[in-house]
Amino acid sequence: MLPYARPSIGDDEIAEVEACLRSGWLTTGPRAMRFEEELASYLGARHALGVSSGTAALHLALLAAGVGPGAEVVTTPMTWVSTANVILHTGARPVFVDVEPGTLNLDATRVAAAIGPRTRALLPVHFAGQPCDLDALRDIAAAHGIALIEDAAHALGASYKGRAIGTIGDATMFSFHPAKNLTTGEGGALATDSDEIAVRARRLRFHGIEQNAESRFGGRGAGAYDVLEAGFKYNFTDLQAAIGLRQLARLDAMNARRRALAASYHRQLQAVPRVRTLVTAPYEHVHAWHLMTVQLEVEALTATRDEVVAELRENGIAPGLHFVPLHLQTLYRPMVADPGSLAVATDAYARILSLPLFPDMKDEDVTMVVDALAKILRRRARAGGVAATAADRPAEGGTHA
Ligand SMILES: *Cc1c(COP(=O)(O)O)cnc(C)c1O
Repeated sequence: MLPYARPSIGDDEIAEVEACLRSGWLTTGPRAMRFEEELASYLGARHALGVSSGTAALHLALLAAGVGPGAEVVTTPMTWVSTANVILHTGARPVFVDVEPGTLNLDATRVAAAIGPRTRALLPVHFAGQPCDLDALRDIAAAHGIALIEDAAHALGASYKGRAIGTIGDATMFSFHPAKNLTTGEGGALATDSDEIAVRARRLRFHGIEQNAESRFGGRGAGAYDVLEAGFKYNFTDLQAAIGLRQLARLDAMNARRRALAASYHRQLQAVPRVRTLVTAPYEHVHAWHLMTVQLEVEALTATRDEVVAELRENGIAPGLHFVPLHLQTLYRPMVADPGSLAVATDAYARILSLPLFPDMKDEDVTMVVDALAKILRRRARAGGVAATAADRPAEGGTHA
């Protein structure tokens, strides 16, 4: 099976993990600290905190930004469940705003209308690795005096108008889950230029204990500690950092390979009717190409998205589903007053699938996937259907330098 994602692990990562194991220091220590320094420097951010997962990073970011009981956080339904779960963990509630049909990013033009007296933060997701319109979102956040916290689980290595994702919002979360652009097995990071957010998040990351480098490892003190609040066990281990250090050294090369594969998909999919690639945002940006999500023109097909996916699987291809929109989940359904306000996300859900995209894929894999998809869509074409051709579609996501 060709999966939608597969981590790229080389001899360097394996050697570094072995060296870490032999060093005897497995949990948070010198490698974790070096990873944080190297990540902060890669991003150009003042602080980068390693944590146990992207979910943990988002939880800490919200808490450190002052989100708590009674608050509301404006976010997208087109995301992994943890984006909204962590809002609930703080005691706040998510307010879902619809996405743009072409990019599946939060529709910035609809955000202001969702802000009320309880809103404390905006939490956009850079879907598939394509940055949201951060100038628009930042202006809205500034006008209302609320935080901009970015879920950049897909967007490590991306940039917006020349600035790295991770240096723009008040705090930015990255995920190092094995499917993501950089992996540490499991893990995540919180990037911020705010000393205040960094201090609070660092404390909450480890039981609410105020920590500094000396008390963390190799310190000269007697080992006393002081608990300031009920924090979490979200620390980042040296074993994770061992993988991460070597991944970070290869990140730009891995992302370049993703970009080349995505470009090949776009070239080949141009000629395939009844499927659309996502649209390229009009502002200057660098896309991280975490996902190769496409949308089926289901009205031109006799098959549902699930049936197309089942047929792809029969061809040895296992697409991903990003995502089942949160307002359709049992937990969140009762929290959405007007599901009609999320019609774009609901409509997209019937169309989306994510084609295999990972650095170790071969060029021929892309051709194999496109050919299999084209064959299925041809066989499942609705007679007298309304299939668009590439030429009918405006602003296809085919241009990326
Ligand atoms: C992967 C992902 C997360 C969660 O990251 P973990 O490291 O798995 O906790 C959150 N949001 C989005 C959009 C993701 O894709």
